[in-house]
Amino acid sequence: MSEHRLYARERPPAEILIQGAHVLDPRTTIDEPTDIVIREGKIAELGAPGSLPQPPDGELIDATGKHAFPAFFDPHVHLRTPGQEYKEDLESATSAAAAGGFCGVIAMPNTDPVLDQAAILGSLIEAAKRQARVPVGVLASITRGLNGEELTEMAELRDAGALGFTDDGKPVVSAGMLRKALQYQRLCGGVVALHEEDPALSADGVMHEGAVSARLGMAGIPSISESTMIARDGALAYYEDARVNFQHLSCVESVAALQAAKELGAKVSAEATPHHLTLTDDLVRTLDSRFKMNPPLRGRRDRKALVDGIRSGLIDCIATDHAPHASHEKEVPFEQAAMGTTGLETSFSAVYTELVMSGELDLAILVERMSAGAGLYDLPTPLIAVDEPANLCLVDLEAAWEVGAGGYVSRSSNCCFHGRSLHSRVVLTIAGGAVVFRERMLTEAGALSAT
Ligand SMILES: [Zn+2]
Ligand SMILES: [Zn+2]
Repeated sequence: MSEHRLYARERPPAEILIQGAHVLDPRTTIDEPTDIVIREGKIAELGAPGSLPQPPDGELIDATGKHAFPAFFDPHVHLRTPGQEYKEDLESATSAAAAGGFCGVIAMPNTDPVLDQAAILGSLIEAAKRQARVPVGVLASITRGLNGEELTEMAELRDAGALGFTDDGKPVVSAGMLRKALQYQRLCGGVVALHEEDPALSADGVMHEGAVSARLGMAGIPSISESTMIARDGALAYYEDARVNFQHLSCVESVAALQAAKELGAKVSAEATPHHLTLTDDLVRTLDSRFKMNPPLRGRRDRKALVDGIRSGLIDCIATDHAPHASHEKEVPFEQAAMGTTGLETSFSAVYTELVMSGELDLAILVERMSAGAGLYDLPTPLIAVDEPANLCLVDLEAAWEVGAGGYVSRSSNCCFHGRSLHSRVVLTIAGGAVVFRERMLTEAGALSAT
């Protein structure tokens, strides 16, 4: 098992001088034009522009006008493998992650078969060592087959490489079952991640319950379906002194429940997605199934509460909940469409365009929250500092592009930002010390040489 439970195929370590980029790393407090020398995949030197030598046999990248950030980390991705490779697989998902500036992702276990046994988990890890372009970590399921009734062999799954446990896609309905899982978590380590939803309240809902659902005559999923479970499980986490990560928060009541749990001293953390931070249920009026996901897009007050939570740090990180679906599962009437949106290729650009350019969020906070998911799972946080492994991305904040116009790197095209004009574009990603993505246009322009 690798020391940090992240797995990828071996790639040649980068030897590069990145010249002229504006480096912004809120953790190391660099915020100025800085040259970066990468040798053997490590950040070897940082210095004033023009002051550092190109590594022998290394490459020179002219990054004038670009920003360099610590690469992003996504703790919530559906790879769809094993079993649903028609939606996505290791190669396509991690290529999409690389194009989005990510140096690591965590895979959810709601695959076919479910990642509920050490042998199944082990074969995904072996596949990641052969195929993953960026490092992949894995969560195992909490209950067998996500049935909510019987715990998996959590200690064995931890030994096999699981970073933690989740039944994502489904809640753990029984408080007694979750309590047992939390007791095991404390013994075997890792984190229990929770998709919070009370099925008795969600019932047959297909969108946020509110004025828009009433007008459309569609069954709604009320915000309390999520928030009451967060309140319950925050209390359980505190009582059992266990570590819990609340996945994809969507509403103002959930933010309040999270705050109460943190104030009590519970060891809880939380994610918010780019779509819940930037979009609302108004868009469902279009009946475009790209806007159908679970939890659903909610109201304006909810969106604002999530942004406030990300700004203050109450919500720890941005996670995409990248959920690819094939067109035959999406191009059907809204009520029947599969729930989920892809997100890896648009995560930074969507939040930058909608929140940073509008003045709602500082760029430095966005950059920090885009990689904070690593720390929630005890993984090293990407840093732009000497002697750190090279995990960074170059971003052109001036670039504008239309989502989907050039196709997608993901195998699926169910992106809720499809057709939008977004600003800022990742042009280079270095993950685990190796170059994993270069923007094609730049290569053609000769600014960057071929991979
Ligand atoms: Zn979920
Ligand atoms: Zn999910």
